[in-house]
Amino acid sequence: NLVVVALEAKGAQGIPRSTGLSDDLFIHDGQITKRPVRALALSALAPRPGERLWDIGAGSGSISVEWALCGGTATAVEAREDRAANIRKNAAAFGLAHRITIVEGKAPGALAALDAPDAVFIGGGLDSAMFDVIWSRLAPGARLVAHAVTLETEALLGELHQRHGGELMQVEIAHAAPLGRYRSWEAARPVVQWSAVR
Ligand code: SAH
Repeated sequence: NLVVVALEAKGAQGIPRSTGLSDDLFIHDGQITKRPVRALALSALAPRPGERLWDIGAGSGSISVEWALCGGTATAVEAREDRAANIRKNAAAFGLAHRITIVEGKAPGALAALDAPDAVFIGGGLDSAMFDVIWSRLAPGARLVAHAVTLETEALLGELHQRHGGELMQVEIAHAAPLGRYRSWEAARPVVQWSAVR
């Protein structure tokens, strides 16, 4: 197993039980929800064994993988072929190919044939038309978590929070990085997370 090999190369045994696994454990092209933010996504998604996730704009599939490691099943919807291929590799590397279904296509159209989920993560492509389709497909009690990095999507999340309640959170993370002979904080782009229950 490729992931176990990667971990063992670092002197570790097995896969950590927490969410927020190292970005290095996933094949990706830079478009990946980074480790600390991914941990916050999974915390808000609150996976329970046996539950089904829609991971919309799945990118590398890292959210689907971490959800499936918690005992659920995930449908990863991704518009780009090269990224869908990465999702397939990541699912296989974690031994989760049987728990992660990959749908290569554009949401919301690609969602029509899917069974309703217990939770949805929207990491890409969110606009109000997509939201309306998704929200109408959710059963009462289903959870929705959306992340925004653009001002436009952030504005939409602000409206949705006003209309539907839930929790709206801004996350600002900075990493220590070299500055000449010293170190300084290098800020990542702020991420806005909205989570709500239907
Ligand atoms: N959470 C992902 C990163 C998401 S990046 C991870 O951890 O890897 C956002 C992704 O959304 C991109 O890969 C982009 O191709 C995809 N995307 C954007 N709009 C989409 C749409 N309408 N349907 C499906 N995928 C979409």
